Amino acid sequence: MNKYRFLSFVWTLLSTALIGAPKPCLYFPIHRDFPMSQACSIVEHQDMDGDGELDWRWNRNFGSLVFPGDPDMDGDGLENFLDHQPLRFNENISHVRSFPSYGLSDDSKIADMQKKLFDLSGIYAIVNQGDFDPRFLKAAIEIFSSPIGLKIKDKLSRVRYMFAFKELSRPQALGLYLEPIDAIVIRTDLSDLSYQELVELIAHELGHGLLFSLFQTASFSQFANDHGGWRLDHRTHIYAKQFLDPFQGTVANGSFPSAYSYSSSHEWFAENVAHYVLASLGYRHKLSEPMMAQIDRLLQH
Ligand SMILES: [Zn+2]
Repeated sequence: MNKYRFLSFVWTLLSTALIGAPKPCLYFPIHRDFPMSQACSIVEHQDMDGDGELDWRWNRNFGSLVFPGDPDMDGDGLENFLDHQPLRFNENISHVRSFPSYGLSDDSKIADMQKKLFDLSGIYAIVNQGDFDPRFLKAAIEIFSSPIGLKIKDKLSRVRYMFAFKELSRPQALGLYLEPIDAIVIRTDLSDLSYQELVELIAHELGHGLLFSLFQTASFSQFANDHGGWRLDHRTHIYAKQFLDPFQGTVANGSFPSAYSYSSSHEWFAENVAHYVLASLGYRHKLSEPMMAQIDRLLQH
């Protein structure tokens, strides 16, 4: 089994979260030594982008179905995506911390932007089901080239990857933050969005990552209660229902920069970070001055 076949198995475990249940497909063991090979077979018969080419054939030729967050199978300290030999323990891995060529676009202009974003932010923007919209990468580079981007980078331990998908599990979603794998997932086709909307979209998803980088449950509920008027109980898990419920308070203060920020405390925080980034880069925004000061404070050393 080569690396990409193996990765496609782990991919399957994540694909439900990303794109919903796999399409109808044959279920049979592919590899008798591999107890969960049934999961593999789902991928083996899946054509996610509908181009008539099965995904596993596509990725066999160093294609795009590599994805982040997969474990370090050989235990050499390098996760599979970065490991040229994912099933062989390599003692000397210190030189490998660079952007692997198989995660780069065939389009050299896009590949240059992927490398630039990595140099600025440490984030691997991996070509997956298709290329990134170049304007998306340009917007991400603009954010991380700015002073505020540097401050965000210093705190942002929970975003290591971005990758582009043709479909997301929520049809209306343009992007998602996947907390279990420290990744931002984005649509390949973002042509309907203006450049400023792209900046806002990235900043919003970075906001979700920042939430998990900065807060434990108790400290986030305190922050949201103090500065947003939420009524969150700090004794529950950060994914407990109350954190994902719409705003219940009677008098909302000025910390809601959009209608969407009322939808949950997580979205409230992400929206405020989005508008904070817009404000910092000189774009139109609706960030309140108190929230500007609070986010400034969170990003200080
Ligand atoms: Zn969101």
